[in-house]
Amino acid sequence: MLSTEELKRYQKQLVLADIGPEGQKALKRSKVLCVGAGGLGCPSLIYLTATGVGELGIIDPDKVDLTNLHRQVLFTEKDIGQSKVNVAKEKLTELNHNVSIKIFPFELTIKNSLEIFKNYDLVLDGTDNFEAKFLINDTAVKCEIPVVYASLSQWEGQLATFYAKSGGPCYRCIYPTPPKDMILNCEQAGILCALAGVMGTLQAFEAIKVLLTKQFKYKNFDYSKLLHFDAMKMQFQTLKIEKDKNCPVCSLPTEKIVLKETQSVLCQTGFDLAISVKEVQDKDLSQYVFIDIREPFEWKLGHIENAIHWPLSKLKSHEFPNLDNMEKIILYCQSGIRTKEAVQLFKDHGYTNVSYLKEGFSHWQGPVVTCS
Ligand SMILES: [Zn+2]
Repeated sequence: MLSTEELKRYQKQLVLADIGPEGQKALKRSKVLCVGAGGLGCPSLIYLTATGVGELGIIDPDKVDLTNLHRQVLFTEKDIGQSKVNVAKEKLTELNHNVSIKIFPFELTIKNSLEIFKNYDLVLDGTDNFEAKFLINDTAVKCEIPVVYASLSQWEGQLATFYAKSGGPCYRCIYPTPPKDMILNCEQAGILCALAGVMGTLQAFEAIKVLLTKQFKYKNFDYSKLLHFDAMKMQFQTLKIEKDKNCPVCSLPTEKIVLKETQSVLCQTGFDLAISVKEVQDKDLSQYVFIDIREPFEWKLGHIENAIHWPLSKLKSHEFPNLDNMEKIILYCQSGIRTKEAVQLFKDHGYTNVSYLKEGFSHWQGPVVTCS
């Protein structure tokens, strides 16, 4: 039932013929899981909360960082250092106390995804990497729930709602394995703040439509569309996407779908050389040569003591630092994403002793040097 307060709060959408009190009650009965409280998750969560979805689950292991603030609109300067899901819960409850917010302050893994997903009607993919997107897709196909997917890259965004149970394609029908030329995430490629806002808002919109569709049993929700938005050209394009009859996931009976860790592009080429911050710091730092592959402004803001600054752009131009191949090289960027490409370039150049800092400089606890 809707309370008097709720009838008043939602009156602008209650008057819409496609929602009405029955639609509003359907939203109130619905449970949506948002994986990632970042650039996409923040605007989605705000709208889903404001619109009166009954329960929202938020999964994100990260803490708020200064670099998040330009696009992650739930967070402010005073939240820096706090758990994203805790801050999100507090802010969203202030917005609408009728919505129950459940938080999961850890990473989604093959060990926990089924247990979490089975309690939700729909999943919103707010992640920025292929490993997470594959896990979300595979788990959702297995649990027979829809996923509202979005991705961002520089000036462009993509959006689709996948629901294999309906007969439509899944994410793996489009990308069976991580494409080598598409390993960019927002840290590597750069991202416009308002683009995350547009795509995250569209995700909320699609999620609301799916939840209402479920209520009214509309037959006309088309699960075979992929929207492409080019912000630079101010152009939206809708493409038809097809189900792949040989899809490695949705062509299988759900009980036969086995969740697997997605091998990163590096793993596929035979060398997963990630080393964690903790592993490095437990060792004698002097035995390593650290190479910072970030941009000059990032280097100036702070870098590992005694590191060599060698931006990724130089490596891409086939310029390499003069190093003894016997030295143990550890590459790092801000969060560990960009270095994957750098490791590949070093390998291609004949270096064998190369690894990279898994979590990147953002998690570094050792001595830091800043440039004035
Ligand atoms: Zn598929």
